[in-house]
Amino acid sequence: MGAPGSGKGTQAQHLVSRYGIPHVSTGDILRKEQQLGTALGLRAKQIMESGGYVDDATMIEMIRNRLLQPDAANGFVLDGFPRTVAQAEALAKLLAEIESPLDAVLLFEVNTEQLVKRLSGRRVCEFCKKVFNVHTSPPSVPPECVDGRAEHQVIQRADDSEETVRARLVKYEEATRRPVSGFYSYTGLMRTVDAEGDINAVTQRMFDTLAAGSGKKAAPAKKKRAAVRRAKVRKAVKKVRRVIRKLAKKVAAKRSGAVKARKAKRKSVRKPARRAPARARRKSKR
Ligand SMILES: [Zn+2]
Repeated sequence: MGAPGSGKGTQAQHLVSRYGIPHVSTGDILRKEQQLGTALGLRAKQIMESGGYVDDATMIEMIRNRLLQPDAANGFVLDGFPRTVAQAEALAKLLAEIESPLDAVLLFEVNTEQLVKRLSGRRVCEFCKKVFNVHTSPPSVPPECVDGRAEHQVIQRADDSEETVRARLVKYEEATRRPVSGFYSYTGLMRTVDAEGDINAVTQRMFDTLAAGSGKKAAPAKKKRAAVRRAKVRKAVKKVRRVIRKLAKKVAAKRSGAVKARKAKRKSVRKPARRAPARARRKSKR
């Protein structure tokens, strides 16, 4: 789970390559069923062409068919589904039937302002249709555009305007994120991943969260990072102290060595004098 722009699709690919399981996206299934012209695909096409949403029963049927394919025998990463609590319940029922329950539900969390920035930064070249982002992947230089064009001509689509993006995020929050994450928190499957910042760090946090195991609630990533930072500082301080102690010892050893040597020298000089009777010493001085 994750809002548009949270990067969940990218992270899903990391799960796919680590566990060798297929990426099951409802959007992809819909497109494929329609391409194949299956009965389900035709039904979905009719529904979508009439401007409606594909009903839950049809979606569940498509997911069932997909999950029964041999490549999904050892597991799968489900992306883009469920979007409502009703779908989550229907999915739980289906997965119980095919004896392949969910191990975890990952929620990729990104601050709303970050999402707005990411999504409203999207630009599309009018000529080559390449997609760019003014923040993360600005328009490339030629010769990547179509022949005869010196540079890309990027535009912002209405869908990517800040206003539309904000409306989409509010809808996602209210219709999907809050109710569905509530449902999975209740079932104990929920794992939250701090999806801000460096993509590789997000991947690492995702795997850490999964490794933390079922039933165990992973520490919020921000708290965890703060703890790691504190531990690092403590370690560094300890190291510095160790070095100082070592140096102090060395100096002390050197000093005491020098003192000993001096004492030994003095002793060797004084010894006969000390052994000699006081009178003899006085005599010798005279
Ligand atoms: Zn272009």
